[in-house]
Amino acid sequence: MKPRNRKSWEETALILAETIANCRSQDPYVQVGACAVLQDNSVSLGYNGPPPKIEIDWSDRDGRLSRVIHAEVNALRSVGPGQCKFLAVTLLPCRSCMAFIASKGIKRIVFREVYERDKLAFALAKEFGIELVQIPRKRPAKKTRR
Ligand SMILES: [Zn+2]
Repeated sequence: MKPRNRKSWEETALILAETIANCRSQDPYVQVGACAVLQDNSVSLGYNGPPPKIEIDWSDRDGRLSRVIHAEVNALRSVGPGQCKFLAVTLLPCRSCMAFIASKGIKRIVFREVYERDKLAFALAKEFGIELVQIPRKRPAKKTRR
């Protein structure tokens, strides 16, 4: 018997990132997830949210931006430099996360969507020698008419 087909680590990590965002992010505007795949293929997950035990006013859409910790920071919290093979994120990292990611020695990021409000991430990634790979979500297969 042949083994069953399985998804690549990159697609798996993106699905895990989407799942943690959907399940755990409290942000009513944007739910972001990140999955760091470590050298031994263990994973570390993060989502955007306030610091532990801190309540924030979600109705203040701009104010929340200064209070929410980004998914990438949460996923990489206990990851040491050189431990992460690649990082998967639902949304292209912002400029400050890109610098933080570089500090962890990460050289490859796979992502689903571009963050339209911060395109500096592209230039920074190039400068830091980080490869960016967009992997769009697969469309559900079209139903065939009978
Ligand atoms: Zn960020």
